[in-house]
Formats: sequence, structure tokens, C-alpha cells
Amino acid sequence: MQKDQLFTRRRALLAGVTAVGAVGTAGAFAVGSGGGPAPSAAPAPGPAAHRPLKPSAYRLQPLTGYGAPRDALRRPPVRSEPILRISGRGRVMMLTFDDGPDPRYTPDILDTLAEYGVRATFFVCGEMADYNRDLLSRMADEGHVVGNHTWSHPLLTRLTRRRIRTEMERTSEVVEQAYGEPPLWFRAPYGAWNRAAFQLGAELGMEPLAWTVDTLDWTTPGTGTIVERVEDGAAPGVVVLSHDAGGDRSQSVRALRRYLPELLDSGYHLTVPRRRFV
Ligand SMILES: [Zn+2]
Repeated sequence: MQKDQLFTRRRALLAGVTAVGAVGTAGAFAVGSGGGPAPSAAPAPGPAAHRPLKPSAYRLQPLTGYGAPRDALRRPPVRSEPILRISGRGRVMMLTFDDGPDPRYTPDILDTLAEYGVRATFFVCGEMADYNRDLLSRMADEGHVVGNHTWSHPLLTRLTRRRIRTEMERTSEVVEQAYGEPPLWFRAPYGAWNRAAFQLGAELGMEPLAWTVDTLDWTTPGTGTIVERVEDGAAPGVVVLSHDAGGDRSQSVRALRRYLPELLDSGYHLTVPRRRFV
């Protein structure tokens, strides 16, 4: 490919923000391919792991400060299942990276995305984000989307409603401070959703986003296998799940370097979600 064509394509990719819509159905509590509990996918405990979770004074817009009509526009509906795919014209896909940021792997992933002018979505854990705020700043500078993946990556279905709220609120607070905006998307750890998570997410101004293709990279199946899973699963509207933390993610880093140029050469536009009602 000629350099000028590549440049044009990269610019098109940067402009190619796509609305997300719910397509298909899912189980009430565990969704996405391979969405069951995955114990080793939990993030490595950060220095904050043993800090007690205190209810935060922080409240997002839907609870305070906005007039009713504006609230209605900003507050997402309470869903009973997460969004699994993106809607949009043409060959659009989304890359998502969960559990980070981790200074051992996330910078490499950001470097590769920057090399190809591609934006991605990072579902961060608050306890990781709190100690790697510079990486959230970099994500903001480079146009990536940051979502909420809870503070400490618990199985939400085993928590009280109050604890779920604290997990989500504290994470949104750190994201807003370090990224510059509160997250508009959340993803339940292990893909284990429940009604409280949907309700609280909506109260905090967030939409639930799951995935279509699970690379299962946390099982460290080998770089080639991760590449194959992405390429075999590639299709319009697909959301790909990978991880940039929670263990040795060097295979995930290397796999991205291989499948990203191949997806682009196949005509895919990698995009980030945009909310229709904001
Ligand atoms: Zn996770």
C-alpha cells in the first residue's frame, strides 16, 4: 500500500466513530462468548488492593445538578442485557482491552495503536488506574475511550448493591480525574452482570458493553492462537476482548502487532463507541 493511501486510511479511521447498538440476545447474568468466571483474569493487586473501600462522595451527573430534560438525554436506559456488537455501516470492528492499565504492557499496546492511527477502548480497573494515571492521560491525548471495569475486579453477582455502587463510583472518579471525563461505558468483570449492575451503571451514566469475540488471551494460549481467534472472528460489528493486565500479557501485546495490520489490510475500520443520546 502506498504511503499516501495509508495516511488517508488512517485519517478515515480516526474519524470513524461508530454508534453502538444492542444486537442479539444474551443470558441475563453471563454474556459474551466465554463470559463465565475466569479466575486468572483478575488484575494483579495494585498497591491499593488492601485499602478499604469507603463510599465516595462522588456522584455523577444523573444524580445531581442537571435539569430533568437534559437528564433524560444523558441518562442511558436500564438494560437487561449488555451490548454485544456495534452497529454501523461497513466493516467496522472494535478492539477492547480489559483489567489495566499495566505499565508493563499498556504502553506497548498504545504504541502499536498509534503506529496505525487506530483507537481502542480500555476497560480499566480503578485500583490499576489510580496508580497509572499517566497512562489514562495518554489514552485521552491519543483519542482512546476509557470505560469502567470496577475498582478491584470482583464477581459482582456476589456483592451487595452498595458494594457494587462503591466499586463503580470510585472507578468513575479516578477515570474522570485522570482521563478528563467520566466513563460512559462499563463492563462487568468475567462478563457476570446482574440487575443491580445494570441499574447502577445507568444511574452513573454508563452503558453496559460486553464483547463478541473473546481471544481468551488470559489463558496465554500462544501469540499465534490469539491472532487466529481475532482473524477467524473478524466480521462487521464485532467487539474483540483482550487484556492488557492481570498476568503476563506479552502474548496479547505481540498478537496485536500481527493482527492489527492484517485487519486494516482486509478493509476493517477499528473504531470506538459513541453514545447516541449524549
Ligand atoms: Zn476483567
